[in-house]
Amino acid sequence: KSGFVAIIGRPNVGKSTFLNRVIGQKIAIMSDKPQTTRNKIQGVYTTDDTQIIFIDTPGIHKPKHKLGDFMVKVAQSALQEVDLILFMVDAVEGLGRGDEFIMERLKQVDTPVFLVINKIDEVHPDDLLPLIDQYRSRHSFAEVVPISALQGNNVETLLEQIKKYL
Ligand code: GDP
Ligand code: MG
Repeated sequence: KSGFVAIIGRPNVGKSTFLNRVIGQKIAIMSDKPQTTRNKIQGVYTTDDTQIIFIDTPGIHKPKHKLGDFMVKVAQSALQEVDLILFMVDAVEGLGRGDEFIMERLKQVDTPVFLVINKIDEVHPDDLLPLIDQYRSRHSFAEVVPISALQGNNVETLLEQIKKYL
């Protein structure tokens, strides 16, 4: 199986940490450049039977200037073309304006979206369900997967879920 997976989420939710853990190299951090490209290959995860090409669509974040509006549109069309979108959020910070902005953009995209709740090593399990409900009330997610990119919790499970959508 082979396919394209876009990772989106506001800054500091842990996108690069996740990619570094999965790909095992410092590729993701090196490509954290200004919002200039349509989509960038962040890394490729390869096993005997699977190839997952992770891409970054920088323009999906809240635009800071006029060019940003255009970039958002470009990012949206890029998201339309991938097999799966991982929408990564921060379990500690909770649902914020940056998340709302991205979910607004996702409404115009048909691609299945996983809600990936990162940094679960920092929150009490009891606080997780109310948080999931908050996100779920705003968007329909194909899967909801809590992980710790830093410690590796549930990352293998996420990869298994991703394979089902390729
Ligand atoms: P990005 O901007 O989305 O690429 O976020 P980064 O991967 O650069 O991570 C931002 C910060 O969050 C860094 O200090 C990471 O070490 C931290 N971080 C990432 N994942 C986790 C996690 O699962 N748990 C905790 N506690 N911190 C994390
Ligand atoms: Mg990053």
